[in-house]
Amino acid sequence: MSATIISPERMTRLTGFGMLSAGDGYLFRPISVEDVQDVIRAASDAGFKITQRGSGRSYGDANVGHETVILDMTRMKRILHWDRHTGVLECEAGATIETLWRFAIEEGYWPPVVSGTMYPTLGGALAMNIHGKNNFCQGTLGEHVLEIEVVDAQGAVFNLTPKDELFYAVISGAGLMGVVTKVKLQMKKIHSGDLKVFARSIPNLEAQFEAFEQFEHEADYMVSWIDCFPGGKQTGRGLFHAAWYADGPISTLRPEHQDLPDTVLGLLPKSVVWRALKIFSTRFGMRSINTAKFYASKYLGNEATHTQSLVAFSFLLDYVPNWRWAYKPCGFIQYQSFVPKEHAPLVFQKQLELQQAAEIESYLGVMKRHRPDKFLLSHAVDGYSLALDFKVTEDTKQKVWDLAHRMNDIVLDAGGRFYLAKDSTLRPSDVKRYLGENALRKFAKFRDEMDPNKIFTSSLAERTGLADPQSLLANS
Ligand SMILES: Cc1cc2nc3c(=O)[nH]c(=O)nc-3n(C[C@H](O)[C@H](O)[C@H](O)COP(=O)(O)OP(=O)(O)OC[C@H]3O[C@@H](n4cnc5c(N)ncnc54)[C@H](O)[C@@H]3O)c2cc1C
Repeated sequence: MSATIISPERMTRLTGFGMLSAGDGYLFRPISVEDVQDVIRAASDAGFKITQRGSGRSYGDANVGHETVILDMTRMKRILHWDRHTGVLECEAGATIETLWRFAIEEGYWPPVVSGTMYPTLGGALAMNIHGKNNFCQGTLGEHVLEIEVVDAQGAVFNLTPKDELFYAVISGAGLMGVVTKVKLQMKKIHSGDLKVFARSIPNLEAQFEAFEQFEHEADYMVSWIDCFPGGKQTGRGLFHAAWYADGPISTLRPEHQDLPDTVLGLLPKSVVWRALKIFSTRFGMRSINTAKFYASKYLGNEATHTQSLVAFSFLLDYVPNWRWAYKPCGFIQYQSFVPKEHAPLVFQKQLELQQAAEIESYLGVMKRHRPDKFLLSHAVDGYSLALDFKVTEDTKQKVWDLAHRMNDIVLDAGGRFYLAKDSTLRPSDVKRYLGENALRKFAKFRDEMDPNKIFTSSLAERTGLADPQSLLANS
């Protein structure tokens, strides 16, 4: 492949999932490791930088670049090896979480860690080191990986295992270390495709923490929804869920048992639901929806256990195709902070108060319990995260960013962390503070080894300073 192949016809506009960050790039969709090496060589020869991209499910600007070569890995999606006795699965990095569960569920296996959507690729999921609703007991996806194959910026191919220090930099490395091309993963043995799910309506933030503490030593999954609108004694009210793997019947392991229905509430075709949501996509509309959901949780099924399929519980947001279009014409950001458990009650209280005072309440709040991990750009802490979705318009953009920066300061003062997959607002000084100089120094050393000419980049990497960690260490 020669440098001339980077031609204007390849120019494609891509956005992050929140639709606010966009970039025009020269799109390449390799189908083999040799193809990946060719793209890297062509980009280097022509003096272009490379932005890696999976399914584009990171909310902010991690998967876009300005006039870079876009290395889209979604065509490298084959399952290469499967051992049904041990549950070890080997696949190309463009395989998605959906590919994995559909492939393995009939044999009684499920991905050990999944995000709230089934569409991320394994490469993208590992570059961010995703967590699930079981983060408090199972850690991140990277903790279940046995081996990865990586191509560095010079085109060299090598394998890494958890024994290699570099393994912990490539996983979590936001696509700045090299291209993950293959993944060997330990899948989780399951005996049923269903979960037993306990629901509790929660009156305030204090009760949210009590619920997580009550179930953290026994549940397989925990998550809580937060209504971000009410203040005072009702601040942080919502709906908590704890879930456990169920036993049998074996028919629940069939993919068709897992498939999400085509209609919502048995009536509305899923494909039109985003239009209905768009009508409610105002402060008043979303306050009403959140209030209705809260009172439904209080009077229907409160303190009761029901059965739900793994897919329905895990990928709730996939029920409504294109739900993000309700945030058009501009888009939205997700703001997720991770705070040590001793400080989380106060930090989340302040975050909720700040957004209410600014009159830009999050339309959706989600709380999870986490544990720390060894990965270099880790977002996890022994504590809790609060994810907040903020609608952004031309008029409110500056206000939303100001709010995020104020919330960042509170999180940083409490020793908290952030998640690059969800970020849109971090400044270099914030990144330096939450990652710490030691981690950044190691990251800079590995980046020099893997990508001395800093070919791998993204809009996120440029904005936060991670593209050039040496300068980040020296300057901000
Ligand atoms: C509705 C929704 C719910 C979500 N829920 C969760 C959740 O519960 N938990 C959670 O942790 N995350 C969650 N996410 C975030 C999502 O899991 C991550 O952003 C994930 O990284 C997306 O993977 P992707 O394939 O779309 O990668 P992209 O977003 O396209 O890229 C992500 C990063 O990976 C890099 N990259 C892509 N492929 C490779 C590769 N082969 N080798 C090296 N680097 C690569 C890119 O350069 C980029 O930096 C959610 C996202 C959405 C939209």
